[in-house]
Amino acid sequence: RPVIELQDTVVTFKRNQGTITALDHVSLAIEPGEIYGIIGYSGAGKSTLIRVINHLQVPTSGKVIVNGQALDDLDQRQFQKARKKIGMIFQHFNLMNSRTVLNNVEFPLLGEKLSKTERREKALALLKLVELEELAEAFPDQLSGGQKQRVAIARALANNPDILVSDEATSALDPKTTLSILKLLQSLNQQLGLTIVLITHEIQVIQTICHRVAVMEAGQIIEQGKVAEVFMRP
Ligand code: ADP
Ligand code: ADP
Repeated sequence: RPVIELQDTVVTFKRNQGTITALDHVSLAIEPGEIYGIIGYSGAGKSTLIRVINHLQVPTSGKVIVNGQALDDLDQRQFQKARKKIGMIFQHFNLMNSRTVLNNVEFPLLGEKLSKTERREKALALLKLVELEELAEAFPDQLSGGQKQRVAIARALANNPDILVSDEATSALDPKTTLSILKLLQSLNQQLGLTIVLITHEIQVIQTICHRVAVMEAGQIIEQGKVAEVFMRP
């Protein structure tokens, strides 16, 4: 069964006198182990879609089911637990600049029942996974964009999430670095069976690693299907 399911989901916001429909009857089902792309221009509703999946935005109507749990059945504590099972990476990395690479990766583990040594070992293993162990004691501003994103990926995996949401994670990177990050995501998808939801405005990113794609416009999914069918190469 799907890891993420939206059934006729609507999100509206009140603005001035009117109402904005950020998600307009969106339905989708993302299967375990899939790399699912969501593409659309600014304002299309991509961030709202992620916020709904991530339980940060309560839909106005419709159902949202993540890992078999319907959003409206959860209390605050269950929300927090469910949210931990979704890793996030962003365009601007969102690393703590005053902390080492290792401390950044350890951060999500601070609330867990782990000894200092266990936490350190876990963080080092994650850094190894993204091929960045040797930079454990460096600070983020000493790293390249691609290296920063690798740290962010390691941090996003700290709580063993089932789902990784990549929100324009390669948008600030040059084409070569973009490709290396996409290859890393692809290998994590294959090695760990991680489901990846990849938000982008670039068709190339979708074509490089996504299995399926949804095209969003004005709050709606206007097209959905296998990447090769939705975006045929010339
Ligand atoms: P992007 O197009 O890069 O996703 P946006 O400006 O659409 O950036 O959104 C950035 C953040 O601000 C999102 O979390 C979104 O939900 C929120 N946001 C967008 N538009 C408004 C608005 N009119 N009022 C309040 N928050 C908004
Ligand atoms: P995208 O991520 O594709 O740029 P968003 O989901 O951020 O799109 O925004 C979709 C629409 O909803 C936009 O018109 C945006 O201004 C509006 N919007 C998003 N968040 C809010 C908010 N918190 N309050 C009011 N309007 C919002």
